[in-house]
Amino acid sequence: MLRLIYDLRVIRSLPIRAAVFDGDDTLWRTELLYDRARAAARKIVERQGVDPVQWEARQRIIDVENVSVYGFSPSRFPASCLQAFREVSSDVKYERDEEAERRIVHAAQSVFRNNPKRIPYATSVLRTLKKRSVRLGLLTKGDPSIQSDRIERSGLAPFFESIEIVPDKTPKVIRGMLKRLGALPSNAWMIGNSLRSDIVPALRVGVKGIWIDAPVWEYEKKSIQTPEALVVKARDIREVLEVIA
Ligand SMILES: [Mg+2]
Repeated sequence: MLRLIYDLRVIRSLPIRAAVFDGDDTLWRTELLYDRARAAARKIVERQGVDPVQWEARQRIIDVENVSVYGFSPSRFPASCLQAFREVSSDVKYERDEEAERRIVHAAQSVFRNNPKRIPYATSVLRTLKKRSVRLGLLTKGDPSIQSDRIERSGLAPFFESIEIVPDKTPKVIRGMLKRLGALPSNAWMIGNSLRSDIVPALRVGVKGIWIDAPVWEYEKKSIQTPEALVVKARDIREVLEVIA
């Protein structure tokens, strides 16, 4: 009995640790959904006698440009696919093919119809962290309806004490999340696949970063300098367990 009381005291005196996870391409594969939808739209483009390589190159550029127009709303990606088609096909076609355009948009929208796959080992990593008394938060950026749907379909929601969908992961947002989890920034980690969106804002508030080198889309591919000492580069999510031991 004495021993048990002693153990409880030791446990209580430990600082509260927190791990805040990104969602897209950290816990579930989002880029794959976009790649598949783009490939489906590209096939339709090709059947229209339009150069698919040129279309794809333009689509990727336009999609990043369109962030300033549509933000992260579900309209952006289909609109970029359509816009690229109109632009590239204007060299070979003189009339607008409404049926082809409708099919391209439909193919692009499959991003939001298909279920994203969970990243391998995501569930076991979250379960182990919970066993280690690490408080878990999920902080995801994007359209609220799309993201809440993905969180729901991922089946991972029950692991998190706090879940937030935000337009941007600002230092203020991260501080708010840590407050809810009851952890100090010095005892917290941010885990994500984007240096720009996940790691840099975390470092600004003194949270350490675990950067998982997974695919990011063009918008996130900005070269970023981070202080090496505060960021651990992980090959996959399992390495999180080595850092937060
Ligand atoms: Mg991500």
